[in-house]
Parts: sequence; structure tokens; C-alpha cells
Amino acid sequence: MPDYKAPVDDALFLLNDVFHFDRYGNLPGFADASPDIVEAILGEAAKLCEQSLAPLNMVGDAEGCTRHDDGRVTTPTGFRDAFRQVVDGGWIGLSVPAEFGGQGLPSTLTQAVNEFMCSANMAFAMYPGLTQGAIAALLAHGSDAIKRKYLPKMVTGEWTGTMNLTEPHCGTDLGLLRTKAAKQADGSYKITGTKIFISAGEHDLSSNIIHLVLARIEGAPAGTKGISLFVVPKIVVNDDGSLGGANGVSCGSLEHKMGIHGNATCVMNYDGATGWLVGDENRGLNAMFTMMNEARLGVGVQGLALSEVAYQNAARYAKERLQGRAISGVKYSDRPADPIIVHPDIRRTLMTIRAFNEAARALVLWTALRGDIAHRSGDAKERQSADDHMGLLTPVIKGVLTDRGFENAVMAQQVFGGHGYIVEHGMEQFVRDARIAQIYEGANGIQALDLVGRKIGKDGGRALMAFFNEVQGYIKEKSADEQMKGYVAPLGVSLGHLQQASMWFMQNAMTKPDNAGAGATDYLHLFGLVALGYMWCRIVEAAIVKLPEADGGPSRYSAKLVTARFFMERMLPETATRLARIEAGSASTMELADDAF
Ligand SMILES: Cc1cc2nc3c(=O)[nH]c(=O)nc-3n(C[C@H](O)[C@H](O)[C@H](O)COP(=O)(O)OP(=O)(O)OC[C@H]3O[C@@H](n4cnc5c(N)ncnc54)[C@H](O)[C@@H]3O)c2cc1C
Repeated sequence: MPDYKAPVDDALFLLNDVFHFDRYGNLPGFADASPDIVEAILGEAAKLCEQSLAPLNMVGDAEGCTRHDDGRVTTPTGFRDAFRQVVDGGWIGLSVPAEFGGQGLPSTLTQAVNEFMCSANMAFAMYPGLTQGAIAALLAHGSDAIKRKYLPKMVTGEWTGTMNLTEPHCGTDLGLLRTKAAKQADGSYKITGTKIFISAGEHDLSSNIIHLVLARIEGAPAGTKGISLFVVPKIVVNDDGSLGGANGVSCGSLEHKMGIHGNATCVMNYDGATGWLVGDENRGLNAMFTMMNEARLGVGVQGLALSEVAYQNAARYAKERLQGRAISGVKYSDRPADPIIVHPDIRRTLMTIRAFNEAARALVLWTALRGDIAHRSGDAKERQSADDHMGLLTPVIKGVLTDRGFENAVMAQQVFGGHGYIVEHGMEQFVRDARIAQIYEGANGIQALDLVGRKIGKDGGRALMAFFNEVQGYIKEKSADEQMKGYVAPLGVSLGHLQQASMWFMQNAMTKPDNAGAGATDYLHLFGLVALGYMWCRIVEAAIVKLPEADGGPSRYSAKLVTARFFMERMLPETATRLARIEAGSASTMELADDAF
């Protein structure tokens, strides 16, 4: 069975030493997040994840969820108890405002905790995770009455949440959606239609499920401009907050799928179910985007989380498994063979995953911190710049962290040789579970198009220029620093590639949009590499300060410097290849006729 140890120390190093969390005490909720409290919270989360959630990961995979003849769905053995622990620990409402029963702490902490939960048990973590997303959408767009009615019980986890976008004939292109909403005399709506692939659509973990559903009000315009968002509870909630009768919504079947078996992926039938409008008529996609931006960051975290847990197990195995001798000469003469960790190719694999994980964690926390500023700062300019950052980095985090997360899970599996293919080691489950994160919440190709088609040119390129200025300013400031220049110099080269690619799109994509479409995924990854490289520089800077605290022996701070060097030498140069592909344009990609495929 695989092991998991939550990287609490690394998260604390990032929060305290790299991003100086204590400097944000003026933001609401941050004063309560003193270093001691943060350490205690992450320590408790680690215990929950290591001791309760991780042991259920393979159980959930093997058992999956079951739909009974009466439409009930039961989750795997142990999930109910584990969910109770999540609820009792107040984890769902960690960052929700106190007026709705939450603890009001920074969302950055929620993201740190979510990484631990997803590493321990991604399928399970989706139940509280989707509830947090639904809470975010209702907080941003719900009326006061809706917030009062639903939020307190979602925050405690008595009720959970879902998001219902996808229909059999539409996933990416939601403008095609057909689910109907008919207005009633009392202001409610009757919702009719079929949604598919709905995560946590039905289960036995909570007494009610609050579905957020996209539907088209009768007479609304076609396309995305005619979509509205509704809250549709599984059991109707009376005005006094008590539960009334069953609503006209049911789980028609469960999908049989590649991974995340412990999460119920449901076909949901809405048969004149009563729903209430959230936000304005025909503005549903906008409202849902609030939830999707949170969710996309959360899905990026899933990629990191699986990469981390897969790495931990591969590193352990590499130290135990004896095969062959080191090419530079025998390293462990007391053993019949050397452990495979001596082989450069195994080390290359482990270093590649590790160099991604540590920088990706930084990228998530840095962006989550900007998210907190965007939501909580009293300064409008600061809010706007943080919001710009979130908008720009969300597709990068979703797309890059999940693509790499899957690749890393495969690489970690490779360290196990044939044993990685065998179920009992758990490595093949990580691969299967990681795969979905590249697909849902907008497939990664769509994230790339979002970045290239919408985000880089938005508001005259304001967010992109701010990102360039920040990274360029940092490089300039540190390039004369003897200890830093070996790190910032390669970052400067790669930033140049990113700027050149951005310019190339400006000059070549307006007249020929296929150039943007053909280069979008390369651009997404080029952007991701630069962002990760910048994170490595920030980590190195903080690690250098901490080095004297190390007791002379090898420390995790000196390991940071080595890992950063590996990233700069062996991973960051990929930006040149990405740029070359972008500048090749779309001609060879688009030339063959459709029926030649
Ligand atoms: C396990 C699981 C859980 C899910 N959970 C939920 C959930 O809780 N709620 C929910 O609403 N949905 C959920 N989904 C649905 C998921 O979000 C969609 O499957 C996903 O957004 C892709 O939509 P699609 O499957 O219809 O693919 P399509 O939209 O048909 O896309 C097929 C391919 O074409 C590409 N493509 C499509 N349009 C374009 C374009 N314009 N340009 C370039 N490429 C394009 C896509 O990138 C993709 O690779 C879930 C799916 C799964 C499998």
C-alpha cells in the first residue's frame, strides 16, 4: 500500500519564508492566521489526511460507489466516517466568512489543505471540494435569502454541493445546452433536462445535496447569452430551514470510469425540479465562472497532489529496490546489488518530479494569496492587480499542473518497473486518478485557448505586462547578486522566449487565428515553465537566508538549491522548443483535409 506524508514543512517554508504571510495582517482573516495557528492547522490537516483519508484511497478505488434500485448511491466503506471527521474538523468552512459559520481564514490555507487531501484521497476530497466551490458561487452571486438558506449547512457539511453544466451533447460548448427553466407564479422555476458526468451528484455523505444547475429560461436567447444559474436542492428546504419533500431530481445512473472510483459521477435527471435563480437571468455562465475559477485552481492542485504522492512512493521504492550496480562503481558492497536510486536515470526521473512539485506548490500558494488579496483587500487598485493575476494564472495552473501531474504519476510508476503496473503498489491508481484532472473543469486544450485567446490580450494586456514587469524586475534586481545570478540568468532567457512568443501571437494570430490555436498548448507550457522558474528563484532566495540555520549537514535548504539548479539546467530549457513550435505556425497542422484523417 502506498504511503503519504503531507509536506507540512515545505508549505510552512513557502508561506513564512518565501511569501511572508505575516506581512498581510491588514487583510481580513489574516490576523488570525499567525505562524503558530497556521502550523497547527496544517499539522491537524496532515494528521487527518495521513491517518484517515490515505488508508481509504485504495478501498475507494476497489469498491467504487454503488447505485441502488431506489436511486440511492452509497460511497465506499469508510467514506462516511471520514466525511464526518472533515465536517467535525470544520475543514469545509476554513475560509468561509464567519457570518455563515466559517472560520474566515485565508483561502491560501484552504488550498494548502486541499493539496494534502487530494494526495491522500482525491476521489474523497472532491466531495468537500465541490461543496467549497458551490459555496463560493453562492457567496458571490446568491441573494441574501439564498445565502442565509443554504450556506450555513453547506459550511458545516450537513449539505454538500455540486456543479451541473455538462449535458450529453455539450461539454465545452455550453451555448448548446438544452436544460429548460420554466418560471412559476411564486418566482421559482421548474427545471427539466439531463445532466451527465456530475461529480458527487448523489451519495450518502450528507442529508441534502445542493445542485447548482445551468439552464435556459423559456424564451431566452440561444447560445451562451441565454444561460442562467439555479440552485436546485435534492430535498426542498422550507423557509424555516427545515427539510421539506423530495425535489424532482434523481440520479439515473453512475458512470463507470478510469479513475476516481470513490467519487460518484452521476447522470442527473431533472424532471420539473424546483429551482431558484442565482444572480441575474441569462448571466449564469458568468456566475458559474466564479465557481469554475476556484474549481480550476483546485483541479490544478489535484495535479500537484498526485505528482507529490506518486513522487514520495517512487523515492521510497528507489531506496529499497536492489537492481544492478552503479555505473560509477559499486555503492553498497554489503548488498547483493545497489538500490536503484544510484542510477542516474532513476535520479533524473525523481529530480524531474521533485523540481516540478516544489515550484508548483509555490505557484499555487502564491496565486491563492493573490486570490485572497483580490477578495479581501480594501484597496481597489491592489484588488484589481491581484484579480488580473488570478485570471492570467488560473488556466496556466489548471493546464500545466494537471498535464505535468499526469506525466509525473506515469514517471513515478516507471520507477517501480513491472511492480508499478500491479494494483497492490497503488501507483497505477495514481496514474488513473490523475488523468481526469486534464479533462474536467475545461479540458486542457481549452485552458490553453483561454490563455491565448482571452487572457493575454485582456484589458490591453494589462495582466500579462504586470507579470512580465514583476519577473523582469526581479531578474534585474538579482542579476548582480553572486548567489542568485546562476538562477536568474536562465530565467531571463526563458522569459525572453515567452515575450517573443507573446509578440509572435500579436503579429501572426490576428490575421490567422489558427496560428494561435495551433500554438496555444505550447504557449501554456512555456508560460508555466517561466512561472515555475520564477518560483524557483524566489525559493532559492529564501533558502539562502535559511541556510545558516542548518546544522552543517545536508539540509532541506541546500537541497532546494540543488533542485533549483536541476530545474534551470534540465527543465527550463524546454522553453526554446516550445517557442520554436509556436513560431512554426499552423500550416503543417492544418494542411491535411479533414477526410485525410
Ligand atoms: C469523471 C468526470 C467528472 C466530471 N464532473 C463534472 C461535474 O461535476 N460537472 C459538470 O458539469 N461536468 C463534469 N464533467 C464534465 C467535464 O467537465 C467535460 O467532460 C469536459 O469539460 C469536456 O467536455 P466534453 O466531455 O463534452 O468534451 P468536448 O467538449 O466534446 O471536447 C472534446 C475535445 O475537443 C476539444 N475541444 C472542444 N471544443 C474545442 C474548441 N473550440 N477548440 C479546440 N478544442 C476543442 C476539447 O479540448 C476536448 O479535447 C466531468 C467529467 C468527467 C469525465
